[in-house]
Amino acid sequence: MFEIQDPPEETRLTGRVGGLPPGATYLGVRESCVGCGDCVEVCPSDLLRLDADGLPRFAEALGCGLCGLCADVCAQGAIPLTPATRRGLDRTMRLEREAEATLRAL
Ligand code: SF4
Ligand code: SF4
Repeated sequence: MFEIQDPPEETRLTGRVGGLPPGATYLGVRESCVGCGDCVEVCPSDLLRLDADGLPRFAEALGCGLCGLCADVCAQGAIPLTPATRRGLDRTMRLEREAEATLRAL
């Protein structure tokens, strides 16, 4: 488990060690997250870990490309999409479709 202290005033410390995934708020994650770890698994840059309470936190300060995959995979809606991560998710999905089309054409 990734142990970190909660600053009580924390809401959107995204992009920092111990911060929440982009779009997530501390209260929202507290209310909705079930600690399944799907967001941790899906992050292509391996930036997220579950903390001692089973909540997702940044383990690395840099590298989030705002791909939106952590928000997309969360079945509990604990990580809402933001305009930036929605654009990132659209880009990610488009690249996946293009890659699949390329593979089919081989
Ligand atoms: S995918 Fe959602 S419910 Fe699962 S650990 Fe991440 S934030 Fe929590
Ligand atoms: S937006 Fe993408 S890169 Fe950033 S934490 Fe979520 S899954 Fe990882």
